[in-house]
Parts: sequence; structure tokens; C-alpha cells
Amino acid sequence: MNFNLNKLGKPTHCKKCGADYIYISLGVYECPKCGFVEKDDYAKVREYIEENGASSAVMISSATGVSVSDINAMLREGRLEIPNGSEVFIRCETCGAEIRFGRLCPSCAAKLSSDFKGAYVNPAVGETPNKKENKMRFLGRDKK
Ligand SMILES: [Zn+2]
Ligand SMILES: [Zn+2]
Repeated sequence: MNFNLNKLGKPTHCKKCGADYIYISLGVYECPKCGFVEKDDYAKVREYIEENGASSAVMISSATGVSVSDINAMLREGRLEIPNGSEVFIRCETCGAEIRFGRLCPSCAAKLSSDFKGAYVNPAVGETPNKKENKMRFLGRDKK
């Protein structure tokens, strides 16, 4: 692993001159000194899916060089969503239902929060697929 990447591959310093990157847009960074542009793993995965459509994490991984576990982490964090028309989904960690992102399906999340008398809200609630739409959507939740 490159020394200047965190676990999701976010570059922080310019590879060429070492200056701090400026965050440009979802996963894209530019060096203010030399103009070098770098994309993080999220941007690579997003671009791949925009150009090639949805694929399994394994295929995306082999095309982009981003590991399957990192791709799954992006899905679990809700930074990436599997399109409704996909044939491959991730699974609710409790009941195994298909979900497009997150860690729990809405019904398990609802059950969990009622068990905790509403005091507990799980941020990683996914959505079950509605298999009509067919386009990968991205959330503007990318953090600096
Ligand atoms: Zn630079
Ligand atoms: Zn569930």
C-alpha cells in the first residue's frame, strides 16, 4: 500500500511534489503546486461503473485494481449503491435479504430500532432493490 493513501485510497499529498492536495470533486484531487491530478479508489470505481455499467465487485476489482473488500466497504458505508437492475447485490447482515448498499435491510433496521425503543438509529440502513431502474446512482456524501 502506498504510504500516502488511507484505507480507502484517499490521496493526501501530491505524488510528484509532496504538496497537500486540494479536493476537487467526488474522489478527485489536484495538486495546487504542480497541477497533478489524482483519483482515489472511490473515483476509479465510480468511473468504471459509469463507463461500463454495473458489474460484480470482482470484475470491478480486476478492472480498477481496487480490492473487493474496499469496494464492499464503499457499499456498506453507503458511498456506492448497487443499481436496481443489477444481478448481484450485497446481503443484509442479519437476515440475508438483498440490499443495494448499507449493512441492514430496512425491516431488520426497523426491528433493531424498536428493540432499542427508538433510541438507536442505525446509519447503515440499506434499501432493498426495486428491479426496474437500471442505473448506478451515486450519493453526494463523499467526505473531504
Ligand atoms: Zn504537486
Ligand atoms: Zn434483514
